[in-house]
Amino acid sequence: MTDGWISGILRWIGGRRAWLGVAPARQDLSRAVHPGGDPGVVFASRGLSKIYRVGEIDVVALRSVDLEIREGEFIVLLGPSGSGKSTLLNILGGLDAPTSGEARFRDHNLVGASEQLLTQYRREHVGFVFQFYNLIPSLTVRENVALVTEIADHPMQPEAALQLVGLEQRLDHFPSQLSGGEQQRVAIARAIAKRPDVLLCDEPTGALDYRTGIVVLAAIARINQQLGTTAVVITHNAAIAAMADRVVHLADGTIARISVNAARQAPEEIVW
Ligand code: ADP
Repeated sequence: MTDGWISGILRWIGGRRAWLGVAPARQDLSRAVHPGGDPGVVFASRGLSKIYRVGEIDVVALRSVDLEIREGEFIVLLGPSGSGKSTLLNILGGLDAPTSGEARFRDHNLVGASEQLLTQYRREHVGFVFQFYNLIPSLTVRENVALVTEIADHPMQPEAALQLVGLEQRLDHFPSQLSGGEQQRVAIARAIAKRPDVLLCDEPTGALDYRTGIVVLAAIARINQQLGTTAVVITHNAAIAAMADRVVHLADGTIARISVNAARQAPEEIVW
């Protein structure tokens, strides 16, 4: 693969900034505006409900969820499969809309926001990490991260993002030359290279063995601590909860309880 081909892709993406919702009618979602709100709160949901209609059947995924998440917090969403964790994360990340209730990022209501504004919100403020890495196999590690930094406003260098996840030695490798855990760390570097305010992770260790999972969790904890990025991590593994500031226990679409960890455990100390 030639450099020209890569820069062609990057130019193509750059040329579609307007199409991606960047250029026109820019609205300010910055951290400066908090009229009447608590400046320390990043996410607030009130009475958040989500009902999926499948044929004749209503599936209730969230039932009147009230939650506040503060700047710089490390939150674990813990609960069994089907308890509503992904639905909540997707609504906070602007990927899904609730059936009723309020969901705010700082003082901006995500509910009822236009697709264009939600696109802008996701691109500028949210880093997503999913169970599967979604890397482009024909691009190197560095190029996979550069695809995102090219369309961000104040990105870090791909090399700096990859250093944060401990992959500075693997810049020119292709995804197929990396282990699952290393690929997930590239996905994390890609998510944080645009300096998002929040990092939303849906079962980031779900496809990984124990030891590899710890390395991935350590990378997320380092980003939370060194960059101050608010982190929300979904898991059904109760042991992982020990690394959070607060643990939101979900059951059957409701918050059963929220527990506070007096001291956060380092991922390397966690055993499951
Ligand atoms: P979790 O992340 O805790 O596993 P989810 O938020 O994925 O839970 O799902 C909560 C409930 O909503 C489940 O009963 C699930 O089957 C249902 N659900 C999730 N997404 C959809 C969808 N797109 N269509 C119908 N039902 C859905």
